Parts: sequence; structure tokens; C-alpha cells
Amino acid sequence: MATDDVLAEPAWQAGDTESVCCCVCYLPGEPLYDRPPFGVVRCQVCRLVFVSPRLTATALQRLYDRPAYFEGGVYGTQSPRSPAMLLQRIWMAGRLKAIGAHRAPPGRLLEIGSGYGLFLGAARQAGWQVRGVELSRTGAEHSRTAGQLDVFCGQLAESPNEPVDVVCFWDTLEHVPDPLEFLRQVRLRLAPGGVFALSVPYFSSLPSRILRSKWWTLKPEQHIWHLTPATLQLIAARAGLVIASVISSPLRPANAGRTDSLVAIGRALPTPRTADRATTDQGAR
Ligand SMILES: [Zn+2]
Repeated sequence: MATDDVLAEPAWQAGDTESVCCCVCYLPGEPLYDRPPFGVVRCQVCRLVFVSPRLTATALQRLYDRPAYFEGGVYGTQSPRSPAMLLQRIWMAGRLKAIGAHRAPPGRLLEIGSGYGLFLGAARQAGWQVRGVELSRTGAEHSRTAGQLDVFCGQLAESPNEPVDVVCFWDTLEHVPDPLEFLRQVRLRLAPGGVFALSVPYFSSLPSRILRSKWWTLKPEQHIWHLTPATLQLIAARAGLVIASVISSPLRPANAGRTDSLVAIGRALPTPRTADRATTDQGAR
């Protein structure tokens, strides 16, 4: 998804927010940090950390509709030789290599939140047949015209769901309204033997633990789910997926310089346990 730090104004009011429950247990969380009008809470059952109250869907749309949110930054206008672009290239190469260790090209690769198409372009060069899903019209159009890329502009659930061999989504899961439903949509799109790959900030990282409510990645307007390796594995399992490897070292190219984020690669569980899941969900309500 897009870069941040462009969102300082205007101030959000309580009327822009709503309280939500844990997406796994359907229970309200216990307060951890107070960041009015937002709160950061933790589910006492599954330990998932999330933002509640959080922006309503309408307020969130206003945030993402701000031209500054998706325009410019490393995805659009920076010189290929800028430090941010160099870092992007290190991440892209490292992530393609990490994916390749689980599922080598050729094959079909889908990126959700493909921005300006930088990663899709790199993946195509690496031998993948690529397509993207992107909410931003600007990003999708740029990808189509400048990159000759096949990008669907809109929500993931409305996008084509023919199976692919790799589904990736970088810095996206922390933004989505319901990460469990999002991962179910990912599961739906995985061909047999397919893998998924993601990056996400994590709540058990050293910066988060030291800085607590001052953690620079907390950003309660937009980062509404704060995962850990354990809660990520839990949500993945509920969606019929399993995490096979996690890269959290900032020294690894796939995660270069990122002290509070991780890259995870996983696959579908062999047998979708739809009947079990439906029963459990019903019990939790
Ligand atoms: Zn929970």
C-alpha cells in the first residue's frame, strides 16, 4: 500500500470513529494505549492487538482519497537512483528470491495493492506472468500505461479470482478492514502448490516494545491490526493457510533496514476445513 507521513491533517473527531471487535473471536479488546479519538486494544482470548475505536469506512475512504496519500513518494516520482528507490530494489530482489525458494518461476503471480507496479515489473523480469489489484486509480492507470501491466482497479473481493501460483501483498494486511476475510480471499486465489508472501509491521518488534504508544508505526488512523508472528499464524490458520517461513532480520535483503517489520511466506493448508471453520465461527458468536 502507499507510503505514509502525508496524513497529518485534518484532526479526526470521535464521530469519524467506530468500535470494533476482534476479527477472530468477535470480542471487544482490553485497552492498551489511548490515542484519542482512537484506542489500541488487545483481545484477551487470542492476544490480537487492534485499533478500536477506529476510523469508519466512510472516514477511511476520505483518508485514502486524499491525493497526497497515493501520489508521489517512492511509488511514483522519485529518481531511480534515489536512496528510497535503491532500497525498494533491494527489497524486491530479496522478496523474489525468498518466494522463489518456495515456488520457482515460471507461473502466475498476483500482487494485491500493486501501487505503481514496481514490484510487478520486477516479478515479470524474474519470469512470472503477473497481474495486480490496486485501489488507487492513479496507481492502476500508471501501471497499465507506463508498465504495460494487467492491473484491476478496485477491491480485492470484486477482482477476478482465477487461481495463481503466488499471491503477494506488501504492507497491506495492517490496513484492511478484516484481515481474516482478506486472507480467505487470498486462499481462494491460490492454485494447488501455490504460495503467498507478505510484509507487515509487527507488534512484538523491538521498536514497538520499547517505544510503546510512541512507536512510529502505530499510526492508528491507518494501521488497524497489529500482528505478531503468533497472531499472524492464528489468522492464517483460520483462513486455511499456514506460514512456512518468517524473515524478521533487518539484515536480510527481503526486509533490509526494517527493524519493526517482517516478511512471511506461506501456503494453503492441504485440505480446506470449511465445515470446521463454519462450526467454530458459529460457536464464537
Ligand atoms: Zn481474539
